[in-house]
Amino acid sequence: MSKAQQKKHINAACIGNPNCGKTTLFNALTGSRLKVANWPGVTVERFEGAAKYEDTEITLIDTPGIYSLTCYTIEEKVTRQCAMDDEIDVIINVVDASSMERNLYLTLQLLELGKPVVIALNMMDIVKERGMEIDMHRLPEMLGNVPVVPVSAAKRTGLDILLHAVIHHYEEGMDEFILDYPSRIEEKIAALSKVMQAGDPSHSSVRWHAIKLLEDDEEIKQEHPSSSDIVDRSYEKEIIQCKYAYIEQVMAETLFHKSRKAAATDRIDRLLTHPVWGIPIFLLIMCLVFFLTFTVGDALKGIFEEGLSLLSEGAAAGLESIGVSGWLESLLVDGIIAGVGGILTFIPNIFILFLALAVLEDSGYMSRVAYVMDSVMGRVGLSGKAFLPMILGFGCTVPAIMATRALETEHDRRKTMLVTPFMSCSARLPIYVLFSEMFFPKNPALAAFSMYVIGMGTAILVALAVNGLEKGRINDSLLIELPEYKRPNARTIRIYVWNKLKDYLQKAGTTIFIASIVIWFVLNFGTSGQVSDPSGSFGAMIGRFLVPVLAPAGLGMWQIGVALVSGISAKEVVVSSFAVLFGVANANSDAGMAAIVSNIQSINPAFGPLNAYCLMLFCLLYVPCVATVATIRKESGSWKFTMGMIAFQVLLAWLAAVAVFQIGSLLAALGS
Ligand code: GDP
Repeated sequence: MSKAQQKKHINAACIGNPNCGKTTLFNALTGSRLKVANWPGVTVERFEGAAKYEDTEITLIDTPGIYSLTCYTIEEKVTRQCAMDDEIDVIINVVDASSMERNLYLTLQLLELGKPVVIALNMMDIVKERGMEIDMHRLPEMLGNVPVVPVSAAKRTGLDILLHAVIHHYEEGMDEFILDYPSRIEEKIAALSKVMQAGDPSHSSVRWHAIKLLEDDEEIKQEHPSSSDIVDRSYEKEIIQCKYAYIEQVMAETLFHKSRKAAATDRIDRLLTHPVWGIPIFLLIMCLVFFLTFTVGDALKGIFEEGLSLLSEGAAAGLESIGVSGWLESLLVDGIIAGVGGILTFIPNIFILFLALAVLEDSGYMSRVAYVMDSVMGRVGLSGKAFLPMILGFGCTVPAIMATRALETEHDRRKTMLVTPFMSCSARLPIYVLFSEMFFPKNPALAAFSMYVIGMGTAILVALAVNGLEKGRINDSLLIELPEYKRPNARTIRIYVWNKLKDYLQKAGTTIFIASIVIWFVLNFGTSGQVSDPSGSFGAMIGRFLVPVLAPAGLGMWQIGVALVSGISAKEVVVSSFAVLFGVANANSDAGMAAIVSNIQSINPAFGPLNAYCLMLFCLLYVPCVATVATIRKESGSWKFTMGMIAFQVLLAWLAAVAVFQIGSLLAALGS
């Protein structure tokens, strides 16, 4: 009697990548007979349904979509537990045939588990529509003779054959699938298998457990504590690479007439994710982004400038005509309009920056950058996944810090939080725009771009230093989905850019608004009440306190001290402060810039490009804004870590600015 005849009941789990059509297939197979519960111990829903084929009942269990049988996320834990559960007789691995290459990574892991697997090759309707063809003889052959059933869950084709294959495969058992690893890994697998079998002769999935031990899998390591004698280090990277190399071979032998889009993606990727050229190309693209930010942004700036000067002149005239007192007029015109309005004139630059980032993101390029940077990340001891929050950091550090949640361990998260603020956020852009246009009129874009490169370089050096202190922990590598390139969608871009601009406007209306009032107050009032000369103000007192500290960095002016302190509320406020300090209505206009330069040079005639560069450098590296600090505190759950980080960043900013100023001055002295 066959096994199914004895049992007449089979438990099968549907396992696959997110979006492979698992739920659609599950619903098509089970109809409406559903049981919904939670997976034990977690709040992830567990769907169970029943299907019948001839006289065999099949209980189907839907699992959360995953990319890999690791146990970092809740989804992975739940699905892995289910796949390993003795109750499960057959695994139905749902594979999206239209992107087989990505899906097969999980397939190889499931096959290594040694349980009966049936592959439901889903989305065959899309494969046909795109004119692609899959060799249905060679594919199962290369996967250890696993049954591969072409289906379309959406069109409900191939479903009976799939159920038949599930029962038949359960009855007949399966060939063992063995993916050959390099001999040093195979030797370890053999040694581990021997130990496991000696301890428990009925141990199931021995090879899979051995591979997981070599991948340094925490959960499996706890089950086999004695394995540490054999496992000298993590072999995860080599094992992943070996699987991908095999998948490439499978694809070459089984997939024909790849869609034109996929073929184009491959061709573009050969260049953009090239091991040598990938990073220089990324830097070149970012350089282009900043060039556009400056040129196109400046071309659009005129409109805002005109609006702002009309507003401030109109407001001044209007307020005077209704006889408003001098201090209130000063607060409104020199404080609020100069502080908030000045920030609004940078909208064109910010708009172009976000537009470019949105296009890069939506076209699929940003995931390539993360992929290209993976090896660099690994080398400096950061998790591959750390680069995603770091890229977000170009926009705003707050969501970037929140994105570190994607990292597996608390340790990796903190390390990423430590380096992410060095990725120059958009709030720092107005500072670069203003100072590089004032002091580097020939190459403003280049001067600003150098800040971004220095920021990335600092992030890498800091990570490297931390890694050195920890004596090289080995980190996981990135398993990232590389979607096909596509033409960016206008709606997605519009939403993305609008949301970012809205945040910027909100910040101008709240934080910067309040900061401008406070700055106006501290600059217009002193111990003796309202002052006409700001050098007698509270602001000057605070600023003078910092002069001796900032002097070695070429920034020894109380006005700069005040601007830097206020910049902690939001980095743009550094610019607002200069506008309020020197009573410039529109800091971003030619006349405004000329006024700021002449004001600065009237205080310190030697203030030149070197000083300006040190100021930009200091702004890049010192304490991130209060919103970021609060987010770091919340996400790390530690004041000690947050305070330590602030102290470290201020010290680093100071040291870097001092070093650049001193060396720069020395070179200038030698050159003259
Ligand atoms: P899950 O995340 O794996 O559960 O995927 P879903 O079942 O939610 O399916 C993801 C998307 O693929 C949905 O829009 C489905 O309608 C679509 N889909 C699923 N199966 C097929 C199929 O066989 N053909 C086509 N064309 N679309 C499908």
